[in-house]
Amino acid sequence: MEFKVHATDTATGARTGTLSTAHGEIATPVFMPVATRGAVRALTNRDIDELGFDMILANTYHLYLRPGADALARAGGLHRFMRFDRAILTDSGGFQVFSLSNLCTVREEGVEFRSHIDGSRHLFTPRLVLDAQRAIGSDIMMVLDECIHYPATEAQARGALEKTVAWARDSHGYWRERFDTGRQALFAITQGGVYEHLRRECIERLLELDVSGYAIGGLSVGEPKELYRAMTELTLGLLPAHKPRYMMGVGSPLEILYAVSRGVDMFDCVMPTRIARNGTLYTDAGRINIKTARFADDDGPIDAGCPCYVCRTFSRAYLRHIFRAGEIAALIYNTYHNLSFMKRLMDRIAASIAGGSFGALMREYERAYAPGGGDTGGD
Ligand SMILES: [Zn+2]
Repeated sequence: MEFKVHATDTATGARTGTLSTAHGEIATPVFMPVATRGAVRALTNRDIDELGFDMILANTYHLYLRPGADALARAGGLHRFMRFDRAILTDSGGFQVFSLSNLCTVREEGVEFRSHIDGSRHLFTPRLVLDAQRAIGSDIMMVLDECIHYPATEAQARGALEKTVAWARDSHGYWRERFDTGRQALFAITQGGVYEHLRRECIERLLELDVSGYAIGGLSVGEPKELYRAMTELTLGLLPAHKPRYMMGVGSPLEILYAVSRGVDMFDCVMPTRIARNGTLYTDAGRINIKTARFADDDGPIDAGCPCYVCRTFSRAYLRHIFRAGEIAALIYNTYHNLSFMKRLMDRIAASIAGGSFGALMREYERAYAPGGGDTGGD
């Protein structure tokens, strides 16, 4: 995988670039819709194509448990299985093991857990999760890391850091030895909790590995915004400029704009699709909730500036009606629009960086999405 930086915003660290993967070129900054089990919830893969997404994220933990790595290998990998010919990034499954599974025990060699589906026992090691990602055939694979909750003591953060670094080293060696490194890229994940010296040490040790890119992990897990931002800033200041930087699990418009301004290139998040299923929709003027009574006779689109099929076709009144009536189509249309908003946001970000107006774009969304400003409408 190759990564090229094109334009950099002089006032901030924002940049545009291209990731060249085995399944095509991806313009960055990029937002990846989350297709946890090989499908974006409430959308068809045809919708994803139509919306123009060049890369999606799938979850190793879920796919490993069902349908299983062997089934995916027999099907020819996830691209072929789901008939998606653009890029796929897979996480290592670590985050889901820590958050979803039962009786998760961290050992030197990996993480033991019980499946949240049937209670069966499994041990994720750095090599096993890479083998699973090989079966999936993802273009970008993530190393196994240990995620800690917030708050965590310094000793807990230190323990997680040691395992994260040791597992990244083992993953890196295994990848260099046994993988087609040109076809399947490998990203390391920086940890360290909210301890500045641990974040710094983790990055310094991970920089010894020649991985394809770096993810910023263990943030946005409940820590105060100031700490999140301080850790983001610190991490980005230490990562090499010529490699892609991926902020895991962050997806609100303002947080994306902030992270882009610090030099982040890649994002994924379930939030745009999750809130859509609850009736919350993004617009250029802020968030709205389609359930509210004031849309009962509103013949206008969700967002007049949005070129998507839903905004070109349906009124707010109709979308409110079918949502309240419990129609499945309401979830589909809402999700479709929110992902269209995300795609357009990323396109506008890239154009503004290239055109020298990124700061102005950031201020535009800060006004629309300020707490208490615009129409937050509730989730
Ligand atoms: Zn729309």
